[in-house]
Amino acid sequence: MTEPLSCLILAPTGNDAGLIGESLDEAGLTYGICADLDQLCVEVSAGTGVIIISQAALDEQASQRIRAFLAQEPPWSVLPVVLLISRMHDPAQEGSLVDLLGPKASLALVECPCYTATLVSTVRSSLHLRQHQYQLRALLEQLDATAQDLARSNAELFRFASAAAHDLQAPLRLIAMYLELIEEQLGASLNDQLQEYFQQVVGGSLRMRDLITALLDYAKVGAAEPTLSAFPLQEVLSEALHILQPAIEEAQAEISIGDLPYVRADRPLLLLLFQNLIGNAIKYRSPERRLAITITADDADPRAWRIHITDTGIGIAPEHAERIFLAFQRLPGSQAIAAGHGIGLATCKRIVELHGGRIWVEASTGPGSHFVFSLAKPDASGAALGGPTAT
Ligand code: ADP
Repeated sequence: MTEPLSCLILAPTGNDAGLIGESLDEAGLTYGICADLDQLCVEVSAGTGVIIISQAALDEQASQRIRAFLAQEPPWSVLPVVLLISRMHDPAQEGSLVDLLGPKASLALVECPCYTATLVSTVRSSLHLRQHQYQLRALLEQLDATAQDLARSNAELFRFASAAAHDLQAPLRLIAMYLELIEEQLGASLNDQLQEYFQQVVGGSLRMRDLITALLDYAKVGAAEPTLSAFPLQEVLSEALHILQPAIEEAQAEISIGDLPYVRADRPLLLLLFQNLIGNAIKYRSPERRLAITITADDADPRAWRIHITDTGIGIAPEHAERIFLAFQRLPGSQAIAAGHGIGLATCKRIVELHGGRIWVEASTGPGSHFVFSLAKPDASGAALGGPTAT
């Protein structure tokens, strides 16, 4: 809003309003006189900077009406109101006057009759206040537009990644099929060196298949609108452990599970989350000690469950605790321990954020790493589903 803001006068008699108007006029301030409360509401919505209202015009009914109207104004709006009070008023009433129009009005009391300079300076500072509110509104609108642009281009990027990964699957399947045929027909006749080359090609195509699967998961999660349902978290954890069973057996991992809550979440997404986190605990195990993985929940935050996954693996240095959640980030030495692409934890972060939660690495007290993610607790109606279930 670039043009100067105007003042609006509501006085019980036209005479009073005229006198106030003259003072504002002399000070070069624009003003209008309004006939009734209907007009006042219309003018305020249209952008009036300050209303000047005499106490006599503000009976109980009028103040309730203005209060109700202001309550519906946007959050950035706190309308400046200059209230002209009579010098004869009871000072004990002053406190009650200040709250007369509620929290969405910023009231300045001016005793009348008053010096013109007092009235004008009060009106000017009220106009400045309103001007700042309009600047705040413009900034909020800009912020909103930027956030929408960002969300649009993000969604576009995820769609692109999803389409690219999907289209790469077909030629890769063809490569895998022909590799099998070549092996069937030539496998026995290949010399050692050609065998070695052949294994490299097979290994490369398998790694590419894993990368494409990880990219598809990431892109799918990026574009997902979570479908929420209520279920015991234990059920999804059991599914994840079932899928990971061969790897758990191979690593001879010891799994301990604490009491887990009922949650309201997207079930397939939580399954993917557990698969990634527990899969990593298995992948990044230490050759120096037995792998133990513990999954527990804590209730310390009144608004969210915190789910802990700890392992006795190689651990994560505190300086890497944030960057591992960025896409394509692997820690030094990871490649030597296990194959990967650095997409799993970025996918986990996206899943948790889609549920309004947060995921982080906690400073570990023992060897290994300690991941925590938060999940909002169901509201009062969801809470009726029950508390944590014992496993
Ligand atoms: P990937 O496992 O495919 O490399 P992730 O995004 O799942 O990708 O993990 C990123 C990096 O974080 C890994 O490369 C590894 O260095 C580190 N990391 C993840 N989980 C663990 C863990 N449980 N213990 C130790 N390091 C881990």
